[in-house]
Formats: sequence, C-alpha cells, structure tokens
Amino acid sequence: MNYRKLGASGLSLSEIAFGNWITHGAQVDNDTAKACVHAALDAGVTTFDTADVYSDTKAETVLGQVLKGVRRESIELCTKVYQPTGTGPNDRGLSRKHIMEACNSSLNRLQTDYIDIYYAHRFDKKVSLEETFLAFSDLVRQGKVLYVGISEWTAEQIGQAAVLARELRVPLVASQPQYSMLWRVIEAEVVQACEREGIGQVVWSPLAQGILSGKYLPNEPMPQGSRASTSAGSPFFERLAGQWLRTEVLVAVSRLTSLAREAGLTLPQLALAWVLQNPQVSAAIIGASKPEQVKENVKAAGICLEPELMSQIDKILEGLVERDPEKTG
Ligand code: NDP
Repeated sequence: MNYRKLGASGLSLSEIAFGNWITHGAQVDNDTAKACVHAALDAGVTTFDTADVYSDTKAETVLGQVLKGVRRESIELCTKVYQPTGTGPNDRGLSRKHIMEACNSSLNRLQTDYIDIYYAHRFDKKVSLEETFLAFSDLVRQGKVLYVGISEWTAEQIGQAAVLARELRVPLVASQPQYSMLWRVIEAEVVQACEREGIGQVVWSPLAQGILSGKYLPNEPMPQGSRASTSAGSPFFERLAGQWLRTEVLVAVSRLTSLAREAGLTLPQLALAWVLQNPQVSAAIIGASKPEQVKENVKAAGICLEPELMSQIDKILEGLVERDPEKTG
C-alpha cells in the first residue's frame, strides 16, 4: 500500500480507502463485512469511511464491531453528518444541536473516542455556516474530531467555508466528491478551490458503483447479486449509476477492459489507478461485497499510468464523460 498526505495537512491516508455504504448492515452479512475489512487491513489499508446514515446507522455499528481489537492509532476512522438519522426536525442537517448529538452517537456506534475525519455530508442551505463551523470547532477542541471535511460542496461553498475555518481554527482539510473516469465534475472548479485552501480529495465511487469493474456487459443480463441487480429501481442508484447501464457506455467499458488487460491490469485496477493519477486525490474509497474484490482492487495503489494510456482511455470514453460542475452535490 502507498500512503499520501491529505491536502496540506499532516494526516496520511492509504491510497485505497475502504467504505461501507450499501454493504455493511444491508447487502452483506457481518461475517462477509469482517472478511472484507480484514482483507483491507491485511493489504495495508488504514483509512475507513462510513456515515451515520448508511443502512439506517447500522453500517457504523458493524464497522465498529469488525474493527474491534485493531490498534486505534493504526487506522483513520472517518464518518459523516447531515443526512436524516431519525424523523424529528433536528435529526438531520448541520445545526449545532444535530452535529453535537450525531457526533456522540457515531462515537458510540464506532466504539471509539474520536473521529479522524468528520465530514459535512452535504451543504445545508437552512443553517448558517457560522453555526456549523462553530460546532465543528468545539468538537475539535473537545478532542472528539481531529480533522474536518465536506462532501459534494461547490467551489463557492468551499471558499466560504475555508474563510470561517481559518477564523475558527478548524482543520478543514478534506473534500469527499464522486470521481471516476466517467464522472469528472470536480475537475473544472472544486479541485482548484480545494488546492488553494490545502484541502485534499478523498473520492467516492471510483468504479462508478461497479460499472467500471467491467462485469456489466452490453445486452446481457446483470450478474446475479451485483449491486445493479439488487439496487435496480432504487431512485438513488438509478440517478447515480443507472445512467451508465446503457449499451453505448457498456460497449466502451468493454473496450476499457481489453485496454486494461493489455496493460497487465484488471479494469477495476485501471479505473482506481486512473483516479490516483490526479495529484489532488489523496485516496480513493472502494466499496466491496466480497473480500476477493478488495484483494484485487488494492493492487491499484502505486501504479503509474503512461500518458499514452491516459489518452487512449479518453478516446474510448469520448462523449460519455460527465464534466459539468453544476452536477456537484
Ligand atoms: P465503488 O465505485 O468502488 O463500487 C463498489 C462496488 O463495485 C462493490 O460494492 C461491488 O459491488 C463492485 N465491485 C468492486 N470491486 C469489484 C471487482 N473487483 N469486481 C467486480 N465488482 C466489483 O464504490 P462505492 O460506490 O461502493 O463507494 C465507495 C465508498 O464511497 C462508500 O462505501 C462510501 O464510503 C463512499 N461514498 C460516499 C458518498 C458521499 O456522498 N460522500 C456517496 C457514496 C459513497 P457488487 O459486488 O455488489 O456489484
């Protein structure tokens, strides 16, 4: 495994991070969850990502259980606040009340005294940034949170947050956006805004939720048990990954599979190495429903892709890549 500094901070992350959205507490049983996490640990993954909202809070509980006994100082435990975790008006968002309560609940579920990176999962238009950042500042002073991040914020929102973070001495050092060969909306604005502020990118769905594994073939039934087969119909999946389950994209992805093979890689390894070629990316967060996927995917760490290969990828994906920064969030 290779490790990179997170933005301008002193914190090191593993290039491949492990996330448990959709899987823990839902798609996979706890034994499989444990096997995936331990495959990651065995490969040198130190960075683990979850959120209070995943699987109605169960994902944090499972991660806390399967990481039990692992030396706390040897891992970075990251979670998020914003999405609803209950039905009450204060069970969501970035108010001081919800941030403080959500943080304490996450600490309990994760069985830890502190969170390494605490992300604002989305921007909250209904709460002032001052209130949100004062709450983050207090959590940092209390030692419950070491570093702060934002997820899917626009360049403008990040710029405003950075001003407050400086004033309140909040270590705002991480941005968690979607980024893959197919989804490049951060490249136009977010990456530059973050670079100016010393904020690193910890990117999600680098395999476009499995589309860039190459297992979805044009005009063929979806593999049984795959995310696309189990999540088909869910509005979230349809909006994010369903857009890619069409013939022209899947044909292009098949061509990428051949290109990867010629380079001595699997497509997941090529796709992960691709996001890691961007020097502003500090880590790529992978999901996995099987330990074998983790073992295959971690091998992407440290791979250097030649410029010729990078342009062949662009040629194959011409006209299929989303780049509009308006799609942030
Ligand atoms: P990926 O794009 O890596 O997709 C992971 C899924 O792809 C796996 O669960 C598996 O699904 C399939 N897959 C992975 N490797 C292989 C392989 N080698 N061969 C075949 N299939 C494979 O990432 P995710 O979409 O899971 O997102 C990763 C993490 O990012 C999340 O866990 C979460 O921590 C974070 N995230 C953050 C968000 C945010 O708003 N901040 C939003 C979404 C995610 P299957 O086997 O079921 O088909």
